[in-house]
Amino acid sequence: METLRTDVLVIGGGGAGSRAAYEAKRFDAGLRVTLVVEGAYGASGSTTFVGSETLGINAPLGCADPTDSPQVYLADMLDTGLGLASEELCRVIAYEASDRVEELLALGVEFDRKDGRLLQRKLSGCTKARSLSCGGQTGVQIVRALKRANEALGVTVYEHMRAVELIKQEGRVVGAICLREGQTPVAVLGRAVVLACGGAGRLFRGNINPEGIKGDGFAMAYRAGATLTNMEFIQVGPGVVFPPIRFIIHSHMWRFIPRLLNKHGEEFLGRYCPAGVSPADVLDLKAMSYPFSTRTDAKYLDIAIFKELMAGKGTERGGVYLDVTHVPRAELTTKAPITYDTLLKAGVDLASERVEIAPVVQSFNGGVRIDKDARTDVPGLFCAGEVSGGVHGADRPGGNNLIDSQVFGYRAGVSAAKEAIEAPVTWPDRVAEPEYAPCNDSLVRELQDLYYRHLTVVRDEAGLQKVLKRIEDLKERVCTPAGDIRDISLANALAVGEMVARSALLRRESRGTHYREDYPDIEPRFTRNILVKRGEGPEMRVEWANQR
Ligand SMILES: Cc1cc2nc3c(=O)[nH]c(=O)nc-3n(C[C@H](O)[C@H](O)[C@H](O)COP(=O)(O)OP(=O)(O)OC[C@H]3O[C@@H](n4cnc5c(N)ncnc54)[C@H](O)[C@@H]3O)c2cc1C
Repeated sequence: METLRTDVLVIGGGGAGSRAAYEAKRFDAGLRVTLVVEGAYGASGSTTFVGSETLGINAPLGCADPTDSPQVYLADMLDTGLGLASEELCRVIAYEASDRVEELLALGVEFDRKDGRLLQRKLSGCTKARSLSCGGQTGVQIVRALKRANEALGVTVYEHMRAVELIKQEGRVVGAICLREGQTPVAVLGRAVVLACGGAGRLFRGNINPEGIKGDGFAMAYRAGATLTNMEFIQVGPGVVFPPIRFIIHSHMWRFIPRLLNKHGEEFLGRYCPAGVSPADVLDLKAMSYPFSTRTDAKYLDIAIFKELMAGKGTERGGVYLDVTHVPRAELTTKAPITYDTLLKAGVDLASERVEIAPVVQSFNGGVRIDKDARTDVPGLFCAGEVSGGVHGADRPGGNNLIDSQVFGYRAGVSAAKEAIEAPVTWPDRVAEPEYAPCNDSLVRELQDLYYRHLTVVRDEAGLQKVLKRIEDLKERVCTPAGDIRDISLANALAVGEMVARSALLRRESRGTHYREDYPDIEPRFTRNILVKRGEGPEMRVEWANQR
């Protein structure tokens, strides 16, 4: 098998991977830094995916509100995380976010300004206006700026290289087996490895993620022996399912007080609102918070849509109608210009036509557990961005994923560079060439449907057990009798589904983005993280952390 050698290997070319590669190379220009990315660099991953009116990135710069500060920001993160965000990691974000944003400005990212002053807006879970953006292009601009800088510094980039397995030697991660163009195995050996390959939205039938975001990082780290945490918490929110584009229905749209209709033309939201809560109250709250969360009564909107769909009252394309035809076109084009234009280009004029929407998976809150230096519990392996866990708890402030990718991308890059210089690394003489079978697409599609039904908005014991039963049935199909994985994509889909389902089963309460219909209330005794780790045998260990 072809074998490449480097000092720091970065897997993933989104916001976190780009930042990690940049910082590793800046730390020591003499280090060989190599970034492998499954798709095209600069056009893959959630960071560069233009799927909403605006993408925000938080920093307590105080441009809009001078009373903002790292302390206030920290308190917001801990409150929104409902006791499950790591205070240590959140503190790092609170105190370093502004520096990372200043560096992005210096690299040429043009955040929106008014009269020369940076514009900061208030997003959900934030008590202050601290989100910066470049409209829907925020992530594109961030990655473009870092990519330019990486090219100038001499970071080596391999595009269309999918990492499929981490290579271990004497208990350390020392590289990854990759598939070039999806087929040819290549071993990339590194003295330190940064995993930054994003979340797993594409494992769900309804999702708002670009191709390639399918949980490879969670599964690879798990197989390498790393601990994952908070895997039951997934951000799901309303998105367009027809016209066939991936686009978020953002707060602006709920301010228009749309009508929501099932396939029979019935308005249904009121049926799901308990006594004392009106549809108008729910829409009003939804305008403040995009993702589904049990934190506020906005939850009834997502629950209502999801339950109508599961009751067979959705459209053929799996959505319900959102109707804003009562709003004058001028108002739509002024208050939601990107949404209006995007849908118009896709063939729907919101001023005269309805759009079909459904809850869709946007991002994972949990992931591979890291410490403040972005170190995992496997020597040689660092993580940053959506693949990492601990920064976000049961919920997170809007705008916190992008800043997480920058703050911990920075720390992962610096830590990996130090590790590459200092750690005693022995590379294997030879890496065995794996033999993978093509992905069984129909089984993956079946899992996507199952996961969408039972692991997104509404969960209960029966649904979670159903998912786990099917996973157990399918597990043996992906391995040879000797236990070697044959179908890597299916194996990863099974591993990630099992992490989410087992964690959600253990958490017999509702908290943040995790809603158990059979346990609808938050339980103070469950203010503890759930950890996922590979057992001694083939079984997955999912248990409560001992922290409280
Ligand atoms: C529509 C939408 C709107 C959002 N809005 C916001 C917002 O307003 N504010 C906010 O903070 N967050 C938002 N998020 C979340 C945020 O964009 C992501 O969490 C964040 O960008 C993740 O960055 P990342 O670098 O960790 O991963 P990504 O940007 O997803 O990058 C992952 C990279 O890894 C590569 N990769 C994947 N698997 C492999 C593999 N096996 N081998 C090699 N490479 C691989 C991918 O090709 C990609 O280059 C939004 C997400 C979406 C989808």
